[in-house]
Amino acid sequence: MSVKTFYSEAYNCEGYGVDTREKARDIAMSLITNPIEGLEICAPQPATEEQFRLAHSVQYTMGIFQGRPEAAADRNGLGPWSRDLSNSVLHSTGGVVAAATTAFATGKNAGSLSSGIHHARKNFGAGFCTANGLIISARVLLAQGAQRVVIVDLDAHCGGGTASLIKTGEGIEQVDVSVSAFDSYESRANAQLTMSNGERYLDDIRAALKSIVDPSSIDVVLYNAGMDPHENCNTGGVDGITTFDLYQREKMVFHWAAEAKVPVAFVLAGGYSGSRLSRAELVDLHRLTLQAAVEFDGWC
Ligand SMILES: [Zn+2]
Repeated sequence: MSVKTFYSEAYNCEGYGVDTREKARDIAMSLITNPIEGLEICAPQPATEEQFRLAHSVQYTMGIFQGRPEAAADRNGLGPWSRDLSNSVLHSTGGVVAAATTAFATGKNAGSLSSGIHHARKNFGAGFCTANGLIISARVLLAQGAQRVVIVDLDAHCGGGTASLIKTGEGIEQVDVSVSAFDSYESRANAQLTMSNGERYLDDIRAALKSIVDPSSIDVVLYNAGMDPHENCNTGGVDGITTFDLYQREKMVFHWAAEAKVPVAFVLAGGYSGSRLSRAELVDLHRLTLQAAVEFDGWC
């Protein structure tokens, strides 16, 4: 059986000037010209209003779905609301939900070529993030009978939006290793933040994974696999974190989950092309996550 990876042309939305809403198409194209054996591209359903409200307020949900009230619609973390943006957010969020529910239903790794979008809050978007697909998906899984969902967030930046949304005792935990203080928060029982750097990066991730108690009791790991820690990424990157390190990181995460027999639902997260990182190089970095997802699927 293959690793189902969700993608829709509707994920993409130009005109906002960020890779977050544009790079999925390039990754999907690369999978046509250079397929990864064992990876299957599937189309997701867009997220519903009911799902959106699992993480967001009624006002903000109306703003994103309908463009009204305007004040709520424009607090999307990217720029002025448009129908295209709304469509892109709903499909890419639906992709995260589809990856999570597929992983839960099949016990196999699954993913989406969209992002977890970890800076989004209950009432507004922030840092290029409109909808918190990680929390929405985790709560969809809880409603389907999951008891324990662990979000592993290895984006360069901290997942403060996600942390702000996790309620005590609801069955969601976050383990977060970041190299940029943007959106940082104080660690607590269900949201543990480690600040790392280019020297300790893989050791810190190993320790963070080891700190997760009884991993075999996790129903699904939601993995926010940001590539922005890379030393050539202008937004979030730090010296000393190389392509090799990030591939080691991906293998470490999927190996850890496979050993515990827990499926991983992975999403792309940060990674920005710029003067030192071309879009093609960025695509290759995100492909490392897809390769590791396939390599360790059904490994144990
Ligand atoms: Zn980031």
